[in-house]
Amino acid sequence: MMNVDVAVVGGGIAGLTAAIYAARAGKRTILLEKQNRLGGRAITNKKNGAYFNLGGHALYDGDALATFRELGLRLEGNQPSIDGYGVWKGQLLTMPMSVKSLLATPLLSWRGKVELASWLAKFSKLDTRRYDHLSLRDWVEGNLQDPMVRNVFYSLLRTASYVTSPDLLAAGPVLKQLQRSLNGVLYLDRGWGAMLDNLRDIAAAQGVTMLTSSQVTQVQHQDGAVQQLSCEDGTIVEAKHIILAVPPAAALQLVQNAEATSLHAWVKQAIPVTAACLDVALRRLPKPKQQFVYGIDQAVFLTNQSRAAHLSDDGAQVISVLKYQGEDNNTEADLRELEGLLTLVQPGWRDELVAKQYLPNITVCHDFMHVRRGQLPGPAVPEIRGLYVAGDWASHGELLVDAATASAKRAVAHLLTQEEGKPQYAHRTVI
Ligand SMILES: Cc1cc2nc3c(=O)[nH]c(=O)nc-3n(C[C@H](O)[C@H](O)[C@H](O)COP(=O)(O)OP(=O)(O)OC[C@H]3O[C@@H](n4cnc5c(N)ncnc54)[C@H](O)[C@@H]3O)c2cc1C
Repeated sequence: MMNVDVAVVGGGIAGLTAAIYAARAGKRTILLEKQNRLGGRAITNKKNGAYFNLGGHALYDGDALATFRELGLRLEGNQPSIDGYGVWKGQLLTMPMSVKSLLATPLLSWRGKVELASWLAKFSKLDTRRYDHLSLRDWVEGNLQDPMVRNVFYSLLRTASYVTSPDLLAAGPVLKQLQRSLNGVLYLDRGWGAMLDNLRDIAAAQGVTMLTSSQVTQVQHQDGAVQQLSCEDGTIVEAKHIILAVPPAAALQLVQNAEATSLHAWVKQAIPVTAACLDVALRRLPKPKQQFVYGIDQAVFLTNQSRAAHLSDDGAQVISVLKYQGEDNNTEADLRELEGLLTLVQPGWRDELVAKQYLPNITVCHDFMHVRRGQLPGPAVPEIRGLYVAGDWASHGELLVDAATASAKRAVAHLLTQEEGKPQYAHRTVI
């Protein structure tokens, strides 16, 4: 039996961030992770000298980057160029990302080029919050005329969000993400695993107790307040506050009588986003100029992350190829499509293969800002005092890992105001 101020369940980026902020505020904090290592979906695996994230990972200039900088993380890596190709009707064609590529591309008519040029000039100043409650489809069709300009935007916005349903995706958050990606993203040396090592060291320095291979099986509460949690191995932790930094379905399962709480509505409204990811390390690139490809009429994406980050010990190039999945998935067909794209971009890649990783159906995020959302999840579960949620699904407008860090900080900020006897963070409903 242990007794702490704050227990964090789940040791992904959300859990680690929450634990660090709670410990920084002077709270005795424990973090419990069911796997034998920390990191969740942000881990990096090393194969034959090459570092593979779980699919290509880029850090945008959003909440996570600001949080990591505030915590003093060493983020080593670089920004890749955004110039690349688009795949259209099985051909690789210059993607219009700058004035030069816009003039060169055969993808657009002159009318299309003029329309896209005017958007590229004003896009960074767009007030995206005006479109938070509009679907992406409505935004695109209401603002863009040329059919090919629409296709280019759909492709860029799918890459920024991983979401394949413009009818569901709320336009504001993804337009914001596109603004950030056009300013450049960061690819990290040795992958996101290096960032996790840094986060773990900061958590340890702040005095967080971190237990791996500790699967939490139940969160108990009494008289409307959290009491304790139990683990599979019999460990019991009494805590004033419990932050659930686990996927939404896991959160629902852990909490006694969760069906009677807001967790139930949050899980019901969640729409997970998945992808098939093929990562390869190649001794050399058969086509060195072809390193970055957006699918236009195919929901795919390819990037050589080694063009900006150190991802192998011996100079091998680490390429991530990704298929954005929708409701109906066929993992064999997805693999064929990904290998086909790799052959189009880097013919003969199999002869250069050093290492390979295939993830046929991985969850990129457990929910996102979509137009069917009725409530913003968390930070507090209002029916149970001392219970909070965090994770990429507990977004209040952020996307992907930015939602993980922002929700973690919201949970800690809320528990601190509750301790100080300040009024509760009002529970927010999407209007
Ligand atoms: C292919 C792919 C590409 C991506 N690309 C990007 C990108 O380019 N940019 C970006 O910003 N984001 C990207 N992401 C998203 C990013 O990786 C995630 O948003 C982030 O890692 C989620 O962190 P989390 O802590 O919310 O969840 P997770 O990492 O899933 O952490 C949850 C943790 O809870 C643990 N857990 C679950 N149940 C229990 C239990 N009962 N007891 C104890 N522990 C438990 C799990 O083992 C896990 O470690 C990508 C994700 C994928 C899969």
